[in-house]
Amino acid sequence: MIKENLIAIKNDIILEEKKAKRQPNSVKLLAVSKFHSASDVIEAIKSGQTMFGENRVQEAALKFDEVHKSYPDVELHIIGTLQRNKVKDAVRISSCIESVDRIELLDEIEKQCAKIDKRIKVFFELHTGEESKSGFENIDTLKEAVKLCANGMYPHIIPSGFMTMAPFTEDTNAIKKSFTTLKMVAQKIQADFPTLTLTELSMGMSNDYKIAIEEGSTIVRIGTAIFGKRDAQNTKL
Ligand SMILES: *Cc1c(COP(=O)(O)O)cnc(C)c1O
Repeated sequence: MIKENLIAIKNDIILEEKKAKRQPNSVKLLAVSKFHSASDVIEAIKSGQTMFGENRVQEAALKFDEVHKSYPDVELHIIGTLQRNKVKDAVRISSCIESVDRIELLDEIEKQCAKIDKRIKVFFELHTGEESKSGFENIDTLKEAVKLCANGMYPHIIPSGFMTMAPFTEDTNAIKKSFTTLKMVAQKIQADFPTLTLTELSMGMSNDYKIAIEEGSTIVRIGTAIFGKRDAQNTKL
């Protein structure tokens, strides 16, 4: 089913790009494999998928240390709230940390990347939906974090864009509001820091990716619609 699901979603993405009058291939698909096995990931790779997302570092490290043995070029993005003591493993296994939500985290990412001489992309996560707790709450603090990057404080960090999670609701307007907020904040901050290239907007999940594409998403993070339902007891993680 993974192969069929991937084909269906990619077709949907193409359709939505057209509907929104966006360039072909302007939306990338991140396959969120949390709670699914390394063999599911490999099945997706064999179906042409090259970018994955995981939200828990320990689980991701077990899985992707295995996957990377056979497929070293497969990209992993960390998308979940990151504790300081997990940063070392996070930067080892991933190419991008999408869930930067505090300045202290940038300090630790820089420190751990410097140790292994690796440069890594980061997105700044903005809190826009009521239900999720993650992301910068305060736009000024987020701006402060971007400013430190622009001032050259973090030579191993490549600030590349923004991420948000819309509220989990049937209310399309509430979802749209969350995405337009991220887009507006991104445009403002990009204008303030023209030396940076903050073009990525990671927004949209299985239930709301069509809305996200309409609102300008460049990366949709899709789990359930590719891999099926996660273990019910774990869906909150
Ligand atoms: C789990 C998760 C997703 C994917 O959610 P689905 O509804 O399964 O598509 C996307 N983004 C984040 C941050 C997640 O934790």
